[in-house]
Order: sequence, then structure tokens, then C-alpha cells
Amino acid sequence: MLQGLQRATEGIALLVFLCGTMSDKATATAVASSANFTVLAPTQRLADKVVGHADAFRREIAEEWLGDELPVATRPAAIHIEIDDTRSFARTVIDATQGRHLVWLVGSEEGVTQSLLQHEVAHVVMAARFGDAMPIWANEGIASRYDNSRRHAIRQQQLAGFVAIDSWPHVDRLLKEPVRQKWTYAAAVSITDFLVDQGGKKKFLDFVASSTEVASSTGNGWATALRKHYAIASVAELESQWHRSVRDSITLREPVPGQASGRLFR
Ligand SMILES: [Zn+2]
Repeated sequence: MLQGLQRATEGIALLVFLCGTMSDKATATAVASSANFTVLAPTQRLADKVVGHADAFRREIAEEWLGDELPVATRPAAIHIEIDDTRSFARTVIDATQGRHLVWLVGSEEGVTQSLLQHEVAHVVMAARFGDAMPIWANEGIASRYDNSRRHAIRQQQLAGFVAIDSWPHVDRLLKEPVRQKWTYAAAVSITDFLVDQGGKKKFLDFVASSTEVASSTGNGWATALRKHYAIASVAELESQWHRSVRDSITLREPVPGQASGRLFR
């Protein structure tokens, strides 16, 4: 999964989340709409199913993270669906000037109606609170909690790799820069999980919000926000605590006669 901040040549800011490989097919022929979503899909049955699930996910994720349902969208998000059992791809573009979300999903019917859709709807919900100002690592960290088990397993393998060779992404850079590689993506998700485990979802969003507010005035938003919300003295201290948490979460299995040695995750 990749993501980044792109800026169109005409000056329109587009926040882009890439969560797979690119698609080059477009097969939508049916449309279904609700107050919050307009879905284009290959069949009417699928369009109806996706719009129903998207509305339910929007409601559930908003209640889970924001504590209440969102008001009806000013402009419905557009979701384009392509069924391809061999691929798993998602992209959300946020046109900040229009307040409009454009979502592309390619995958199996299960994927585009469940985890892929849920992940992208999480971005839509976060934009309702943060607009296009939410740091990408935190935005993806939340959305990825809705990924399927295969993606969770891949990220766990990545974390095990950090521990195995004691080589980690720099957290100070991760907090400031677009998340582009798989290994920085795994780190962003893991740090999000670590902080959510410390004090819950509301506290995490308050932390992210205050970091962006302080950052604009002092340029040192993360350290100030860490002290305020988590009593963590600095970004370096966060990095140290996160490393310890990841190491503790990985249990090295003692070799058993007749079995290959390996790693287990709690
Ligand atoms: Zn994403």
C-alpha cells in the first residue's frame, strides 16, 4: 500500500491514498445512490450492495472514533467499483477545494464490499473531522485497522523484520513525511496501534488534532502533543517505547525437535 500528497498543476490540492496496485480497467455500468455516496458498479445488485455497506460503515466508524454519527455529507462521495478476483486495489482522492471524495476499488466482491470499502470509508470519516489536514501516517493507521487478515499478517512480518535486524524507520521523519514504502506503512500503522492502546481512540484523535494546531504555531507539534496527551517527553521517547512494545509483542519460539524454528506473534 502506498500513499502520498499530490498537488495538481492547476493548484488544486488532492490528498491521495493508494492502497494497492494501479487498475487500468473501467467496467461500471450501474449506479446506486444514497445521501452520502454515489456508487458505480458492474451490476445494479452490486451497486446497491456497496452503497448500503458504505452507509453502514460510515455510521459505524464515525460512532467508533468520533462518538456520534456524522451529519449528511455536503457532497456525496463517488465510489467506482471494478470486480477482479486477481487484484486488490483502492485509492481515495480528496479534492479539498470541493470537499469531495473520489474512491476507486478493485478486487473480489468480498473485498470491495468489506475490508477494501471499509478502509476507504474510514478515510472519508476522518476527513469529516480533519479535512485534508490529518497527517497521513495517522490517517492510514486508523484506516488500516479495517484491512483484512492477510494485510495484517504482512505488516506483522515487516515488524518482525525490524526486530530481527534492529533496523527501524525514523519516527521523526515518519511523522512529517508522506508514507510511501511498505515498511514505513507498517511502522505508521504500528505506532497508531501503540498509541491507541495507551489511551483509546478519542485520545489518539485529540493528540493528532493538537499536534497539527501546535505545529502551525511552533513547528514542534508532535513533541508538545506527546507530552500533553501521553506524558511522553519527546519523539525520541515515543520511538524508544514503540520499539520496546514491538519487541515485546513478538515471541521467539524455541526450536522444537523435528520442527523448523520460526516467530510467533501474540
Ligand atoms: Zn488508505
